[in-house]
Amino acid sequence: MGDEVKVGTVIGEAAGFVSVPVHASISGKVTAVGRFPHPLGGEHQAVVIEGDGEDSWDESVVPRDNVDALTPREIRDIIRDAGIVGLGGAAFPTHVKLSPPDSKPIDTAILNGAECEPWLTADHRLMLERPAEVMRGFRLIMKALGCERGFVGIESNKPDAVEAMKAAVPSGSGIRVVMVQVKYPQGAEKQLIDSLLRRKVPAGGLPMDVGVVVQNVGTALAVYEACHKGIPLVRRVVTVTGNPVGNPSNFSPRIGTMVASLVEQAGGLSDEVSKVISGGPMMGMAQFTLDVPVIKGMSGMLFLGPGDVDTRPPDPCIRCGHCVHACPMKLLPTTIEKYVMVEAIDKAVEMGLNDCIECGSCAYVCPSRRRLVHQFKYGKYLSAELRKKAAERSDKEKGN
Ligand code: SF4
Ligand code: SF4
Repeated sequence: MGDEVKVGTVIGEAAGFVSVPVHASISGKVTAVGRFPHPLGGEHQAVVIEGDGEDSWDESVVPRDNVDALTPREIRDIIRDAGIVGLGGAAFPTHVKLSPPDSKPIDTAILNGAECEPWLTADHRLMLERPAEVMRGFRLIMKALGCERGFVGIESNKPDAVEAMKAAVPSGSGIRVVMVQVKYPQGAEKQLIDSLLRRKVPAGGLPMDVGVVVQNVGTALAVYEACHKGIPLVRRVVTVTGNPVGNPSNFSPRIGTMVASLVEQAGGLSDEVSKVISGGPMMGMAQFTLDVPVIKGMSGMLFLGPGDVDTRPPDPCIRCGHCVHACPMKLLPTTIEKYVMVEAIDKAVEMGLNDCIECGSCAYVCPSRRRLVHQFKYGKYLSAELRKKAAERSDKEKGN
C-alpha cells in the first residue's frame, strides 16, 4: 500500500515453476491490496493502482539489440520474467510449455490462428495488424523449443489473415501457413494437431507426447514484445461483442482495465442483456458483474440478448445420442454426466472425464438442454480433490 509503481514494475512474484509474475500495467500509486471480484468467479487477490496519468515505464523495460544471439534458455527465462501465459484462454505459463522433458523431443511448433470460438475476432485482428511481429515471436518460440518446422493454422474463413501471415514468413524459415477447415473446435490444440499433422494426442496425454507444442498468436506477439522490446505482459487484445453491444470492437487494453469501461468504449449496451460471458459462447464463463478486471486469459467479453439465450431449465436425457456424435474427443457425454451426478468419479474418469476439453459441443446439440459441461467441470474438480487427498495420504504414510 502506498508504493509508487511504473508500467512493468513487478507487483506479484511467481510462487513456483508453474507460475509467472504479474506487472503493473499503469504508473501510479498502490491504493489497495485485497480481494476483489474476478472474471473466473468469486474474489481473488488484486492490487489496485490509482493512475498518475504519466504512463511512465519501469527502468527494467529496455529494448534488446542482440535478440538473434539469445539462447533457448535465455528466451525461456525472458518469457517467464515477462509474465507470459497462453493468451488463447488457458493462461498456462508459456515458459513451462516451452520446457518439455528430454524424453519428449519436439519436432514441430504450431501457431494457432484458428480463432478458438465463434464471436471472437481478437486473433484475426492481430494477424491482420501485426503479422510481422507475431511471426518474429513464433520464430523465437521455435528457437526456444529447438525445432525447425513450424505451421501456422488459420481457418479458411480468414483468407486475409492467411495472406498477411504468408507475407510475413521469411524464406528458409521452415514455416508453412496452412488454411484449415472452419469447424468448431478447430482451435483446440488436439484438433489442430490432428488437422495439420494427422497425429493423435493419446487419451490423457499432451501435445508434447506427439512431438508438438501449440502456441496462440497473441502469445507469439507477447514473446516478441518481451524479447525485442523488454516489455512484460501488460496488455492483450480483447473482443467486446454481442447483439446488445452498441459498437462491437476489439481493444488492446492494459491488464487490469475494468470491463465496465471497455463496454463504455464499445458504445455501451443498447439492448437488454440476458447473459454476459467472459470468453466465447461455448467455453466461456458467465459473469455477474462488469466490475471485474481484464485478466491475461480474457480473449473476449460476450453479451447475449434475450433472443440469443434459451433460459428453459434442463429436461431429462432422452438418450438420443446427439452429444455422442458431436463430441470431438469421441467420449460418451451422457454416460459421464450420469456418473458425475452420483459422484461416481472413478467411473467417470474411466470413461474419459479428464479427456474432455470442455468445448461445449455436446451441450450445444442437446435437445434436453442438459448442463453437461457444468457437470464435467464439477467432476474434474472432484477428481482433482481425490487425487490431492490420495497424494497427501501417501506422503503421510511415507513420513510414518
Ligand atoms: S444429447 Fe442430451 S438428451 Fe441426447 S443423449 Fe446426450 S445428454 Fe441425452
Ligand atoms: S464438452 Fe462435451 S463434446 Fe466437448 S469434449 Fe467434453 S464431452 Fe466432448
